Amino acid sequence: MLYPVQWVFTSIRRKAIAGLLIILLSAVFLIGLSIVSQARNFILAEVQRRASSVARFVGTDLASALDSPDSRYKVPEIVGRICSDPSVLYASVFHGNGKVISSNSSRPDQMIKRSLPLGELYDLESEEVRYHVSDDVLEVYLSVVPPHGTEKFYFLLGFDITDVSSIVAKITRLIAFNAFIVYIFGLLALIAAVNRLTEPLTDLASGIKDLGLGKLPQPVPVRGYDEVGTLSANFNKMIEDLGRYRREVEKYQKHLEDMVGERTVALNEANVELTRMNESLKTANEKLLELDKLKSNFLGIATHELKTPLAVVGGYLDSLQDGFAGELNDAQTGIVGETLSSCHRMEALISDMLDLNKIEAGRMPMETMELPVIHVVQKVAGQMIPLLQKKKLTLDILEKGMELPARFDEDRIIQVLVNLISNAIKFTPMGGRITVSAKRGTGKSLSFTQISVADTGIGISQEDLPRIFEEFAQVGEPGKEEGTGLGLAICRRIARAHRGEIWAESVLGQGTIFHFTLPLA
Ligand code: ADP
Repeated sequence: MLYPVQWVFTSIRRKAIAGLLIILLSAVFLIGLSIVSQARNFILAEVQRRASSVARFVGTDLASALDSPDSRYKVPEIVGRICSDPSVLYASVFHGNGKVISSNSSRPDQMIKRSLPLGELYDLESEEVRYHVSDDVLEVYLSVVPPHGTEKFYFLLGFDITDVSSIVAKITRLIAFNAFIVYIFGLLALIAAVNRLTEPLTDLASGIKDLGLGKLPQPVPVRGYDEVGTLSANFNKMIEDLGRYRREVEKYQKHLEDMVGERTVALNEANVELTRMNESLKTANEKLLELDKLKSNFLGIATHELKTPLAVVGGYLDSLQDGFAGELNDAQTGIVGETLSSCHRMEALISDMLDLNKIEAGRMPMETMELPVIHVVQKVAGQMIPLLQKKKLTLDILEKGMELPARFDEDRIIQVLVNLISNAIKFTPMGGRITVSAKRGTGKSLSFTQISVADTGIGISQEDLPRIFEEFAQVGEPGKEEGTGLGLAICRRIARAHRGEIWAESVLGQGTIFHFTLPLA
């Protein structure tokens, strides 16, 4: 709730009216007051002028009466005569020493008095007049010096000025009435002027309020060419511009909405097409999976069926080489040797393909147990001795970190290590070095052992590195070494089956290092 004073201050119009009202009231009051006091002073001055001329007139008579002791008997007569005037209340003549010589009064209740002290009268020159206004009485003091005498006398006349007070009261009433009329008209004129001045501001304020609410206001009337008129005109211009911009924005919005609508229709169509394509892709994928399964089955059966006759062929070739069918000449030994080594390569390939197929088909059972890594590393190192010796290679096993037990399938990890170390032997020139090491690491959620096999061999180029784990990938110079190109693919499947990973780093001509991880027990 607003107090009246606060209510006045919420509007510039009310503030202006209140301010001007106070100013008008003060002005009318002050002007009235000054007119009344001017009128009173004017009337008093007139009365004083008349009183002084009366006093001077009587004073001349008194001066000649007081000139000699013989004529002083006339003084009471003169004083009595002047008191017969109805406007004179009392009259007195007194000596310069203060002694009253004669005194008279027109009304018995009026005391003969002397309001001014003698001291103030002493400095009066001859015929000089001094006034004293009190209540409803005007006292006139006149110094009287007889023409031949040396003594000084004073004449006091008391005039009744109650008339003056009643005239002043009348004037006051008249002025108050006129002031009230002036005030009322002034007030009306003032309100009209303030309204005229503030109306455009009120219009502007309501227009700006509408703008604040997001509405487009009506143009405000432009009254005159002053600053407020210019402001109103500019405001109207601004509204006009705003309206135009708004219409343009609405047009663009509509255009955009149409475009979005069109795009949505196109998108929906594309979506339908995508769904249809997705469906056909799904069907194709299902067919592919089926084919893959068929391929795996075929591969499994084919390789398994190849393995047995190949073992028989290998056995017969071994027997031929051992001379069970009689001594072989040099040419026969050569042919049997070559056939036998091809037979072994085929056996290795078939065995790798079988392994790969089994892992892919999920038919290779994992029998994991907790074992220290050193256990399998040493087993593989033992198997590799003849190969290492053949190429005069050194195998270093850094046992630190290998004593930690990890959880893995022993046969499968042996297979990985055999693959990596035999590759290292294969691709490292005579007199080189192979190092096997292990360390502990922590991944996103589990701790693991990282086993590394490093060699000082021919290395792998950076372009080839990403391909070496693919099936049948043989990189570098073609036919440089024997192999199936399946070893590393099998290693990766085994590592992943253990929830581990395998990767390689290499510098061409300097060596390669393979790492694989196994979760800790
Ligand atoms: P492969 O039976 O041919 O060795 P792998 O899958 O084991 O098949 O290896 C794939 C290819 O990776 C190899 O043919 C060889 O080019 C490269 N490779 C593997 N190990 C090494 C290594 N230690 N040094 C250099 N090249 C290597």
